[in-house]
Amino acid sequence: MVTPKITHTRTLILGGGITGLATAYALEELGCRDYLLLEAKDHLGGLCATTYVNGYHFDYGGHLLHLHSQLGKTLVKKLLGKNLAQHTRHAWVYSNGMHVPYPFQTNLWALHPELRALCVEELKQLQNMPAAPEHFEDWCIRSFGYALYEAFFRPYNEKLWGRPLRELTCEWCGPFVPAPQRGEMLQSATQKPAAPQGYNATFYYPRHGGCGALVEALAAHVKNTRTNAPVTRLNLAAKTAWINDRETVTFEQLVSTIPLPQLVNLLQGHDELKRAALQLEAQPITVYHLAIAREVPHFSWIYFPDAAQPFYRVGMQNSFDPGSVPEKDTSLFYIELPGLPPHTPETEEKIWNGLHQKGLVDSDDVKLFSAWQTLPYAYVIFNQARSQVVPALLAALEKENCFCVGRYGRWEYSFIDKSLTQAWDLAGKLTTL
Ligand SMILES: Cc1cc2nc3c(=O)[nH]c(=O)nc-3n(C[C@H](O)[C@H](O)[C@H](O)COP(=O)(O)OP(=O)(O)OC[C@H]3O[C@@H](n4cnc5c(N)ncnc54)[C@H](O)[C@@H]3O)c2cc1C
Repeated sequence: MVTPKITHTRTLILGGGITGLATAYALEELGCRDYLLLEAKDHLGGLCATTYVNGYHFDYGGHLLHLHSQLGKTLVKKLLGKNLAQHTRHAWVYSNGMHVPYPFQTNLWALHPELRALCVEELKQLQNMPAAPEHFEDWCIRSFGYALYEAFFRPYNEKLWGRPLRELTCEWCGPFVPAPQRGEMLQSATQKPAAPQGYNATFYYPRHGGCGALVEALAAHVKNTRTNAPVTRLNLAAKTAWINDRETVTFEQLVSTIPLPQLVNLLQGHDELKRAALQLEAQPITVYHLAIAREVPHFSWIYFPDAAQPFYRVGMQNSFDPGSVPEKDTSLFYIELPGLPPHTPETEEKIWNGLHQKGLVDSDDVKLFSAWQTLPYAYVIFNQARSQVVPALLAALEKENCFCVGRYGRWEYSFIDKSLTQAWDLAGKLTTL
């Protein structure tokens, strides 16, 4: 009989995405070398990895660097050095035949005159927001008025989230849905804003290597990693993890960056936590990457609220990443579809027709390349249960020295910048325990 291999580490990190890697890097920087990072896949990076196929490369949808924290900025600049460029967003919304710069709500000048007049009228009558809006629909209507809600916020968000907006809370909106002052929105009816607005008005991106360049730069500082090492079972009382149900690792502290419901399902016992986690939901998405033999005028990304198109957002990878295509005179689009449509020629045709209808491809354009990606957990659903269940789960896990970080670890809506700050904060805390 083969004796199972047993390893011991002080800090076990689950998941080798950007959050797990950043936690390991922060521990290294703090002089704590007694950690082990386990990644289920055969490569590191999680959703921040970049995929290379036939001379093209692409991310899991566009993964742009929105660096708002000082730590995020300093760290990414240190890691990428000269391999980092800053870009200005060129994004808009295609809606009901209109072509409105993003954010929609501060570009009322671009609306059809009748719709603009209606939006202005409603904005003038807006009441102050109640302390706690009931749900996302309520928040949108009270922030922007009914006409703007119907023109953009409802159709776009229902398409993305796949449910009525009354089923979502507005806890996630924070910086992600710009809610400018009413005066600013009204002014935009007659005057174009002087500069692009919102949390992503400018963004950073590696000059070479896609978002994966950041993963590689981080990984270069992180020694104790194992890929092809899925954790399949966990016993928090015995502080033991099983890799592939065969090998065991004992630990003192556990850091989890894997999706919170998945983590809870790995636990031995803890039936009450498992029952609670059943209430957590995610919206999966599918990304279709398409290259055509023509360089269309550059844009960063475009939102598509209309139900007629199967996609909700299309980005142009080579607009901010020229090396993502092997030849000039090429456009590489990442096309994001809600849910899990089948990867079939019929879906491809619907996508092509949608792009054609919106003028992004011509009938005589030649398709050079395409690839599919599926993101089963892409967007955490902020349902009513989440606001109770997530804090309760995180608190219960922390009592057992299990700390969750990252967008999926904490089951939230957040970006790379927050992964980095959370990882740093947690590493500091772990060294004091
Ligand atoms: C469509 C889309 C677009 C986005 N665009 C941006 C953007 O432009 N800018 C931005 O800053 N952020 C963006 N984000 C958010 C960003 O992807 C996340 O914040 C970030 O990638 C989270 O990293 P993570 O390491 O926490 O999780 P993940 O990347 O999900 O990594 C978790 C890792 O855990 C591994 N794992 C899972 N289960 C196990 C197991 N049992 N054992 C071992 N390993 C396991 C997985 O394989 C994975 O590698 C976007 C997200 C989506 C969905």
